Amino acid sequence: MSERMISVAIDGPAGAGKSTIARAVAGKLGFIYVDTGALYRAVGLYGLRKGADTTSAEQMLPLLEEIKVEMIYVEGEQRVLLNGEDVSEAIRLGEASMAASNVSAIQGVRDFLFDLQKDMARRHNVVMDGRDIGTVVLPEAQVKIFLTATPEERATRRYNELLGKGQQVDFDQLLAEVKQRDYNDSHRAAAPLKQADDAVLVDTTGLTKEESICKIFELVQSKL
Ligand code: C5P
Repeated sequence: MSERMISVAIDGPAGAGKSTIARAVAGKLGFIYVDTGALYRAVGLYGLRKGADTTSAEQMLPLLEEIKVEMIYVEGEQRVLLNGEDVSEAIRLGEASMAASNVSAIQGVRDFLFDLQKDMARRHNVVMDGRDIGTVVLPEAQVKIFLTATPEERATRRYNELLGKGQQVDFDQLLAEVKQRDYNDSHRAAAPLKQADDAVLVDTTGLTKEESICKIFELVQSKL
């Protein structure tokens, strides 16, 4: 038996800063950062490309037999391969977010991606982020964090990010979307977003990126 690896699980709603913080903390610890949302995005992208209704388990489940999803690391950065094709950029575009959200509500899709996530944590020290890492994927993780921020703060961050990219957006609409996504994520039947009993709740409202990273890094260190 190999020695037991260390797992840090970071869950929380979209826009709380999970990926930025998890990536930075993994870098400081010398751990691998695993973005599990990217896996759901890859499955969603495949469904889109096949013209499937990504909300339909009946249509999505047979497609899983044609899909191979892999995670590889190039210069320390996670890349996602879909049947051998690097889709790391494609999964960030347009409809892929909604498709990911749709397929992630299908239990068979969650089961399909489970082993891949487990296997990463078995072989490496990881900081893994997602929605159900502390509750379902790695209930045995040594450190569990539930990262959150108010809907207004998360909508503001998204607003500034899009504005920075030169996109005109309506703040009220963004805020409504954030709230809708929160509702969907926490009310779905399959692995709803919820804080694990033994997770530490961290609210990043009002904190800068650097302050958030610092806070989480100190928290992880105190637990290990
Ligand atoms: O984190 P990201 O926005 O990339 O996730 C894409 C979608 O996958 C989200 O809608 C989220 O609800 C879902 N997801 C999930 N479980 C995870 C990671 C992501 O259901 N562990």
